[in-house]
Amino acid sequence: MEALRIALSKGRIFDETLPLFQAAGVEPVENPAVSRKLIIASNRDDIEFLNVRASDVPTYVQHGGAHMGVIGKDVLMEHGGEGLIEPLDLHIAQCRLMVAGFPGTDLQEKKRFRIATKYANCARQHFAQHGRQVEIIKLYGSMELAPLVGLCDLIVDVVDTGSTLKANDLVPLESIADISARLVVNRSALKTHNEQISSLLASLGQAVREKESKL
Ligand code: AMP
Repeated sequence: MEALRIALSKGRIFDETLPLFQAAGVEPVENPAVSRKLIIASNRDDIEFLNVRASDVPTYVQHGGAHMGVIGKDVLMEHGGEGLIEPLDLHIAQCRLMVAGFPGTDLQEKKRFRIATKYANCARQHFAQHGRQVEIIKLYGSMELAPLVGLCDLIVDVVDTGSTLKANDLVPLESIADISARLVVNRSALKTHNEQISSLLASLGQAVREKESKL
């Protein structure tokens, strides 16, 4: 049987997911943060990990390059989630997707706001739902800089403690969604790897519940 391939990204998601996988009896034999290998074996013959850039995780899982993956809800919303199911909230890497800007900004003001973000789809959809006209400027990082240099009026970004906004004299203005890391599964893999996926889902679900009960 072909090994079950799980796409993970280095950094926060990997660091916080690892203990959950360990509790479920699976762990990579090398640390992806250090290893240059992109396919990393696990302690189990039937499971391997793929070291994938965060924004590429939904694409790998959608097209079957990976059977499963772990990804932030923000990245998943921006991707659209086509071909994926999202069976488990891992309750880690929690933050909020927010509209932010200068203190005192009136979001009801009748003007065409310019919004800098890497979440172009989420931002467009959010403002369309509120019937507001916006212009989106796509950026790939450090969105907080954009309003400071006159590139935009608002940003849409993930906010955790809010200290990055504060350090740049910006404030959260409106919440778009609560974010946490989700387990995603390729729809067809549910049939081809049903047993492996069901048993891993059950063990990970148990690990999440045990961790939550200790908090
Ligand atoms: P903070 O200053 O704690 O609000 O964190 C803000 C910055 O950290 C944001 O600009 C994000 O790039 C990043 N960040 C915070 N939480 C997350 C998360 N759960 N996933 C990915 N990036 C995050």
